[in-house]
Amino acid sequence: MPILKRHKVPVDFFSRLSRASERLLFLDYDGTIAPFHPESARAIAYPQISELLQKLMDATNTRLIFVTGRRARNLGRMISLRPVPEIWGAQGIERLRPDGDYEQMPLRIAQLQRLAHVKARLKTMDIECCLEQKPGSVALHWRGLPSSVASRDAATVLGVFSGEAGRNGLRVVKFDGGFELRVATYTKATAVLRTFEEATPNSVAAYLGDDEPDEEAFKALRAQDLGVLVSPVIRNTAANCWVKPPEGVREFLGAWISSCASDPRTLPLSEPRSEQSDARLQSEPCHTGASWQGQQAGARHD
Ligand SMILES: [Mg+2]
Repeated sequence: MPILKRHKVPVDFFSRLSRASERLLFLDYDGTIAPFHPESARAIAYPQISELLQKLMDATNTRLIFVTGRRARNLGRMISLRPVPEIWGAQGIERLRPDGDYEQMPLRIAQLQRLAHVKARLKTMDIECCLEQKPGSVALHWRGLPSSVASRDAATVLGVFSGEAGRNGLRVVKFDGGFELRVATYTKATAVLRTFEEATPNSVAAYLGDDEPDEEAFKALRAQDLGVLVSPVIRNTAANCWVKPPEGVREFLGAWISSCASDPRTLPLSEPRSEQSDARLQSEPCHTGASWQGQQAGARHD
């Protein structure tokens, strides 16, 4: 994945979105719309983000879908949006629909047995970092711990995980603040691809994510979609463009709302747009501020 070398505005994305028969917005949570916190239950969304997302849900005829490494129900309890949107948890292994219907992707008994064996083995070791067992994975988290502890435990656990990787369809996946041994079959791309199977072919989607697991989702996007890397610094990515949190995310969501406000299928926004803002959107449909630096939509780098 080459680093994004150009920072051109994706000039046609929001105009394409405004005409789309179906709109899909995929969102990662930690690091994308919420800052990291050593206590994961206390990682709440950046200011104004929840208000913007509620407005987007209420007024733009958009299907909002969270795609997270967290357990789906855990994230559902943290989100203030109503109705609670669809949530894909455990990186594509869990699906929790807005009506409460829950689905877990099928896992092989041999995989579950190996993961349980690994968890039991690690519990006999002197590990200070947090070990978490989720459907289809065992994860090590070191956020908030001293670097000396994190380094020592990471080396120990990586040694165990590496011995299992490549067997029984398991692999090691790194993420911000840890890594996990997980079933390789399902990734965040699972959520994107399953959603596309249910969507109309000319739907338009965007995926906002910050971390390595989000790269699989970026690669699953179609030519008409937009992958947005949310990061304080640019890095190698399969996304189309890059924004800095939280300002860039707020500006992106604001532009999404504004571009869809004239859709007769949606409810009117509580604050009518000015003629000036309409003109700006037409001339600069995606230029939402200084921190918005995008590359031409459709120019993939995977
Ligand atoms: Mg993240």
